[in-house]
Amino acid sequence: MSDPSTENEFPEPVYETDEPILYDVKEGIASIRMNRPRYNNAQNNQMTYALDEAFQKAVADDDVKVIILRGEGKHFSAGHDIGTPGRDHHLSQERKTLWYDHANKPGGEFQYVKEQEVYLGMCRRWRDIPKPTIAMVQGACIAGGLMLAWICDLIIASDDAFFADPVVRMGIPGVEYFAHPFELNPRIAKEFLFLGERMSAERAYQMGMLNRVVARDQLEAETYAIAERMAGMPRLGLALTKQAVNHIEDLQGKRTGMDAVFGMHHFAHAHNSLISTDKLGGFDAKSMADSQRQKDQK
Ligand code: ZN
Repeated sequence: MSDPSTENEFPEPVYETDEPILYDVKEGIASIRMNRPRYNNAQNNQMTYALDEAFQKAVADDDVKVIILRGEGKHFSAGHDIGTPGRDHHLSQERKTLWYDHANKPGGEFQYVKEQEVYLGMCRRWRDIPKPTIAMVQGACIAGGLMLAWICDLIIASDDAFFADPVVRMGIPGVEYFAHPFELNPRIAKEFLFLGERMSAERAYQMGMLNRVVARDQLEAETYAIAERMAGMPRLGLALTKQAVNHIEDLQGKRTGMDAVFGMHHFAHAHNSLISTDKLGGFDAKSMADSQRQKDQK
């Protein structure tokens, strides 16, 4: 039996930037930019806490009416960081939920506690930000990247954007923020997960997951034009409207459903740990991409 005090030791992350998130405010609109373009904005914990800080700043600033979340470079986000030199397993000392430190915990407790904070907890926190948020999506929006788009109120995508949640390949029923049957109708959500294939922006739009699809060179102008029009509405009106719609979604089961699926998600992580080398079934970013390619060629 392995020594539980040593089984969670990981290599020290090598961060390629001190600024995984860029932030600026212009004319009532806060722009929050994921800034790991070299790694297609893969979300490590360094980025997650920087993102939380940026959202807090935007909420606290009375001049900010609308928040735009976007990604630098070719892609919006390739998902959670499962393979760059900046992949980090330790979270901030200043946690945003009341969960305790996961880092020295054995077995399934490690991942369960970590994901309560950094995936489910953070996403719910951001989804309930009392100001309107818009995701501006180009290129890839994969797995954990979907979570970042889905927590926003509006999603505006370029026509080259694509969406996928391939984690069923790891034996896992979707990413931690299980909004799939709310973002897509249940039958399409099953297809999306069972196949793990890319969904085009056009189809995602037809399914009601996106508000607009525009040409890539129009994406920024269109997103900011919509943000500007929203910024002309009264602050409290926007906040109450957002709360109203989110509340109805929760009455429809979004929150409690997500709690139940989070348990299944962690049964899958634990099962992977029992039957294979690790909680992701032995997959990392590269082997996931290779394996998806092989399947697509069959
Ligand atoms: Zn997970």
